Amino acid sequence: MNTPEIISLTQKYIMNTYGRHPIAFVRGEGCYLWDAEGKKYLDFLTGIAVDGLGHCHPAFVKAISEQANQIVHTSNLFYIQAQAEIGQLLCDHSFADKVFFCNSGAEANEAAVKLARVYQKKKKGDGCFEIITMQNSFHGRTLAMIAATGQEKVKKGFEPLPEGFSHVPFDDLHFLEKAMNDKTCAVMVEPIQGEGGVRIPSSDYLAGVRQLCQKHQALLIYDEVQTGMGRTGKLFAYEHVKVAPDILTVAKSLGAGFPIGACLASDEVANAFVPGSHASTFGGNFLACAAAKAFLQILLQNHFLENVEEMGKYFLNQLHQLKKKHSFIEEVRGQGLMIGIDLSIPGKAIVEKGLQAGLILNSPQEKTLRILPPLIVKQKEIDEAIQIMDKLFEDFA
Ligand code: PLP
Repeated sequence: MNTPEIISLTQKYIMNTYGRHPIAFVRGEGCYLWDAEGKKYLDFLTGIAVDGLGHCHPAFVKAISEQANQIVHTSNLFYIQAQAEIGQLLCDHSFADKVFFCNSGAEANEAAVKLARVYQKKKKGDGCFEIITMQNSFHGRTLAMIAATGQEKVKKGFEPLPEGFSHVPFDDLHFLEKAMNDKTCAVMVEPIQGEGGVRIPSSDYLAGVRQLCQKHQALLIYDEVQTGMGRTGKLFAYEHVKVAPDILTVAKSLGAGFPIGACLASDEVANAFVPGSHASTFGGNFLACAAAKAFLQILLQNHFLENVEEMGKYFLNQLHQLKKKHSFIEEVRGQGLMIGIDLSIPGKAIVEKGLQAGLILNSPQEKTLRILPPLIVKQKEIDEAIQIMDKLFEDFA
């Protein structure tokens, strides 16, 4: 099929929930994608922080092909070796002792909130159920997660929403302190807001949140769905400030493109779940775990995360040079390979021009561009992106 045919079939049969670009990709390799007409694109969005290994990484392809030939799914009524193995890898490299596997970020956050509620019900009683999240946060699209998300646009039209969620300004301990009380079950926060526009809080913010949680005996949940699995140059973003949570969620890049999510917790908290408390038919099945295992084994190799940090610094440096040349760039910021650029003009037109020029970026907020390259990116691909941006930015002078 060509692109117009794919678009028309989609419009006929697929619910109209996405604002899509008129492009249909058919093949990927490393940092590049090709569309149905054979045009090549530099993929610096990676399926929104998902394809950490780029496209069709040989070890990843081998692992999932071999697994598909052996066994794909049996359900969680039986034991799954690779599930236990990636559970061990995640716990060995984090604060956590136990993991629950699911299929997406929203589901991982649902698990986190259910775990926090059931834990606090046992510990502090029925009244302690409120979850405080941040304005401009994003936690997913299920009913509970749109209630958790601090952006009105995702809630509109779906009321009544599940109760017990409130929002305070991000990176502001004063408002958080005022909002906390005996009813506060947990505080849920992204260490860096992703959909909110790559917002990096001040370096002592998470330590302050932790202290307030301790004071009110509330649990601290990190939503690392976007920041986790190496994106910021550490396995988890909280490692930059060395402030561990009680519960942490990951998804997106965990399966390097294969759908899998996880909720990690300390033993003390995880023990509040008992058989029957929570479940997922597909969660952590053989194929998903083979994908996650292949990715984790590469991610944990020497130098992989160093490359993320190094390339992130190089990219930021190059972008700061672009800022000097193009006056509509207001701020460039980032951690590892999670990069945001604030503009004085709407980002949408730049994203569209980028696509025409063969560069994939996006604009999560009206005047912010976001760049999420593959974690395997090299200097030459960053140089290529900078060259494309420099040229297309001239049209917006
Ligand atoms: N949490 C964060 C921080 C996210 O960025 C996202 C997705 O963008 C989600 C949760 C939801 O993940 P999913 O779309 O896999 O449900």
